Amino acid sequence: MHGFSYKKGSLHCDEVDLNELAATHGTPLYVYSGGTIIDHFQRLDQALSGVPHEIAYAVKANSNLSVLRLLAAQGAGFDIVSGGELFRVLKAGGEAAHCTFAGVGKTRAEITYALQQGIYSFNVESEEELLYLNQVAGELGLRAPAAVRVNPNVDAKTHKYISTGKSENKFGVDFEAIPELYARAAADLPHIQLRGLQMHIGSQLTSIDPFIEAVEKVVPLVRHLQQHHAIEFWSIGGGIGIVYQNSLESGSAEWWQSRSASELPLTIERYGKELVPRLKDLGLKILLEPGRYLVGNAGVLLTRCLYEKKGLAKTFKIVDAGMNDLIRPALYEGHHEIVPLTQPATAARVVVDVVGPICESGDFFCQDRALPDFHPGECVALMSAGAYGFAMASNYNSRPLPAEVLVEGAAARVIRRRQTLEDLIEGEA
Ligand SMILES: *Cc1c(COP(=O)(O)O)cnc(C)c1O
Repeated sequence: MHGFSYKKGSLHCDEVDLNELAATHGTPLYVYSGGTIIDHFQRLDQALSGVPHEIAYAVKANSNLSVLRLLAAQGAGFDIVSGGELFRVLKAGGEAAHCTFAGVGKTRAEITYALQQGIYSFNVESEEELLYLNQVAGELGLRAPAAVRVNPNVDAKTHKYISTGKSENKFGVDFEAIPELYARAAADLPHIQLRGLQMHIGSQLTSIDPFIEAVEKVVPLVRHLQQHHAIEFWSIGGGIGIVYQNSLESGSAEWWQSRSASELPLTIERYGKELVPRLKDLGLKILLEPGRYLVGNAGVLLTRCLYEKKGLAKTFKIVDAGMNDLIRPALYEGHHEIVPLTQPATAARVVVDVVGPICESGDFFCQDRALPDFHPGECVALMSAGAYGFAMASNYNSRPLPAEVLVEGAAARVIRRRQTLEDLIEGEA
């Protein structure tokens, strides 16, 4: 569910008219519903209430300071993948003691920074990294809290670029090698404090089955590690998928209620109901690392139509947002619903490609899709753009980064100003 719906003929984010926001702040413009983010956080928290747990928001999905601050106020921890993300979390009032640090390529500078700040756990992705962590911690006279990321070799059945839990992926340590690595760390690595175990099998999972398969496969390993080491947590990762198709309709509670269980995508209630019983007897703190689930459906990208171009084969709607602003369609074949801000008067559809201004043929938001018609000067929303949207935006083609607005009820405020032309050359010689 989310806070985007038509009211009086105009698409709103909670109580705020998006046509008005586009007129005030210009386009392209990211808009987030604070209420939706909080609702998602609280529903996940509730769904896991049967087991001691902590939700560590995956910062990389959307790292705006105001979004981080909103989640910190809800009691979220943070899963970071760089020193830069730790810096952001601390600036936003988050605590290092509630941060876990993932990623296969941590540098000495990043390790040092995170050690000095006192993060909760390094989630280590290889034996070599564990040795290096031990060395750097030793040089600083510290002990590094660590968990190793297990690669359970489970097929997450998602896009190949966001699948992470198979043996051929670069992530984690092979399931079979974990007990020996922990034994070695306990015996030979005095600057490592083994604190837990971590896994994350992929992103945008829309079926519960891979989650169950991974948890059931790893439970015996967790029990084994518990017998030999003083571990206190198991992070089961993130990856909970969201609705990209029907993303406008699925904003309402009625949509979810009107569907039978087999028609529904993975719900958070189902996630909790299936996983909690499998986890609760372990006596460990369960960490979750959701990114997309918390913020994905809570954001849209507003863009204005510049031109309509009728070619021999196709009709193109050229808009002022490009793949530099939202790269998911080009990178992962990501689907975003395209919804006019002014409610269409009829059910008529036209088949069009919606494309951006970038000099790349991959710069499209949809191809041959039947949409309500819209014309130059009018705005549309690219739905479900709150996760991996702005966070992946770039200055490609020397385009200033778009502004971001956070809506809280009837209030809207700019949480990142639009870049200026001067910003584009900042730091260059
Ligand atoms: C990206 C990532 C996540 C978050 O994934 P989502 O699909 O956005 O929930 C969690 N944990 C790790 C280690 C990640 O790399």
